[in-house]
Amino acid sequence: MEDAMIINKSAYERGFGAGSVYKSEFVELAHPASYFCRDQARQDLAQYIDDDGLPAVGARLQPDAPFYSFYDAEKNIFVVSKYHGKEEVFVDSVRLCGDFSSRPLKKACIMLRLQRNPTVGDKFASRAGQKGICSQKWAAEDLPFTESGLVPDILFNPHGFPSRMTIAMMIECMAGKAASIHGHVHDATPFRFNEKDTAINYFGRLLEASGYNYYGTERMYSGVDGREMDADIFFGVIHYQRLRHMVSDKWQVRTTGAVDALTGQPVKGRRRGGGVRLGEMERDALASHGAAFLLHDRLFHCSDKTQAVLCSKCGTLLGPMVGKSDSTKDTCRLCGEGHLVSVAIPYIFKFFVTQLACVNINVKINCSEHLSITGC
Ligand SMILES: [Zn+2]
Repeated sequence: MEDAMIINKSAYERGFGAGSVYKSEFVELAHPASYFCRDQARQDLAQYIDDDGLPAVGARLQPDAPFYSFYDAEKNIFVVSKYHGKEEVFVDSVRLCGDFSSRPLKKACIMLRLQRNPTVGDKFASRAGQKGICSQKWAAEDLPFTESGLVPDILFNPHGFPSRMTIAMMIECMAGKAASIHGHVHDATPFRFNEKDTAINYFGRLLEASGYNYYGTERMYSGVDGREMDADIFFGVIHYQRLRHMVSDKWQVRTTGAVDALTGQPVKGRRRGGGVRLGEMERDALASHGAAFLLHDRLFHCSDKTQAVLCSKCGTLLGPMVGKSDSTKDTCRLCGEGHLVSVAIPYIFKFFVTQLACVNINVKINCSEHLSITGC
């Protein structure tokens, strides 16, 4: 995969890249006489909700746990609202918003904190904009190590450099390495260096002074068998950031599920349990590979396959009237006869045929009446 990176599993276990995502939930009570509070008769709620009807700061909320409670003045009942998220969260802060009048406050802002530790599929980036997806958490003992025993936190694919030309990231790597050896804080003001007095030379000489290679490379040894590797590997300190694109927000899976009422095809959208679209380009790719059965499966069996009745005499999909019992015979409204066959078609095709009928166009399907089609 393009722009993948490997994270040292031990570094991850030490807390590398750990982060929190903050979510704010705003609650506003509609009726003027409603107010936040907990039903005192419901002692079972006490472990979730305080007397003021709001969760305690620091409380851990599981999905579908009681979240907040209020007295609904319109219906004269206590309402307990549940937490609808799909992940465990912590209550970070609870604020009641309003003015200084004596009326009970009707707007609450509850800030929630989600702990998000790095997982395979999460996105990271350096300050040079070199972003990548973590594709593996690799055990530290199997990662290559330097002569002094250093094991990298991140392994990065150098094919991302030639086309993107992020030289600053390599200079940062050398500068970071030189700074950590010498205990320096480097000045990153632009235009401090020029063609005659280059940054690479400055940091390279600093590295050289501490016994490292001038170009920032190091000899490394295989973590698997301990043998020295043939190549010199660029090794240093780079500032990395965690980006907000995480798999736990994006993963999508569907076997069967909701379908569109009009077309009978699977709905789109992750939140509705929809499918991933197999569009024209994907269709062309499969067709060019000759994967006819796969195409048929995706576009027909897993989509809007329906059993339709066709008049084999006049070829219409709209005319057939199937007899309810033995006494009423099958007839066709268009030709008056009844040689009906059952065919499996995409539902959207029948929809298309009815739409064409609206503009006075009849669709005729050639179908042999001897060949009784009972489905594909
Ligand atoms: Zn007919």
